[in-house]
Amino acid sequence: MTKIKDITNYLESWAPLAYQEPYDNCGLLVGDPTTTVKGILICLDITENVLQEAKEKNCNLIIAHHPIIFQPIKKLTGASYVERCMIQAIRQDIAMYSLHTNLDNRIDGVNDAMAQQLGLQNLQILLPKPNTLQRLITFLPPAALELVREALHQAGAGHIGNYSHCSFNSVGTGTFQPNELANPYIGQSHQLETVGEHKLEVIFPAYLAKNIVESLKQSHPYEEPVYQIQNLENMNLQIGAGIIGELPQPFENQAFLKYLKEKMNLTLIRHSAYIKQNIKKVALCGGAGIGLLSEARRQGADAFITSDVKYHHFFDAEEQLLIADIGHYESEIAIKQLIYKKLSEKFSNIVLLQSMVQTNPVHYF
Ligand SMILES: [Zn+2]
Repeated sequence: MTKIKDITNYLESWAPLAYQEPYDNCGLLVGDPTTTVKGILICLDITENVLQEAKEKNCNLIIAHHPIIFQPIKKLTGASYVERCMIQAIRQDIAMYSLHTNLDNRIDGVNDAMAQQLGLQNLQILLPKPNTLQRLITFLPPAALELVREALHQAGAGHIGNYSHCSFNSVGTGTFQPNELANPYIGQSHQLETVGEHKLEVIFPAYLAKNIVESLKQSHPYEEPVYQIQNLENMNLQIGAGIIGELPQPFENQAFLKYLKEKMNLTLIRHSAYIKQNIKKVALCGGAGIGLLSEARRQGADAFITSDVKYHHFFDAEEQLLIADIGHYESEIAIKQLIYKKLSEKFSNIVLLQSMVQTNPVHYF
């Protein structure tokens, strides 16, 4: 029997909640994590129609990109669609879960889905997230080295890009003197010991620090495992906002917009003036990503694709690139397929559906 927490743990091993933006509200928003899952409905937005669909299709877990609860709620009277959705969900025992900026910030998240649709190559995170990496240094007797190193790798340490099991090991001399209360692995009370030790260093994502220290303590033979944790300034190239890449071939401006419209299935594109002859290097950010414009300019993008661009933002193109606003819904709708694919890789025995409700609140005339 698969529980809601089995699903959410799996999703959070892919898109850890620690990677959401500070203003966000990702995770399980309504529901009991120990409930057995009957079916899962995946959507971009939760609306009353989506809840109705979940009920009709016997799905008791809705996974949405946008968190239905975003602002604090002080009353639950049904005065707004958010309150009505919450009331409906609780009455019908339907859980609601959000994978939002924690997924946006992955290199294989919503921006990657857009980049794939456009056939972009040589993808890189546009603005890597700072302060996401730490280093553990510990000192060990030679006999314990392999065991502790493996335990740390199992807990998630030592991944760098496409490499796993990364560590640095050096040999040195350690000194210590146990007091009368100590129960030392080596040596005796009040006797200064000088022993050959290995120094083991591993890098790990900062959000795993608790697990890493726990596995170190469990595997390390010393009564008082000696370790240091340091914050690293290194950029985490796998985690951050937006993506930048290159089109398979350069396009003249109008041809580029036509291509964009076709590939993203758009009705309308709002864009700034044509500046360059050709568009090849493209930065993008699904949803409201105009905050990344200066980074796109700095990295020499020929075009920046995002949504929710205001009038004054178009001036900020500064005659350096083409800004293209493709619509919030249109930029992120591929997320349904992305989440569906991820879940179907692991849970083949559960009803897994993509919502058929069109939730775009913006209409074009
Ligand atoms: Zn969005």
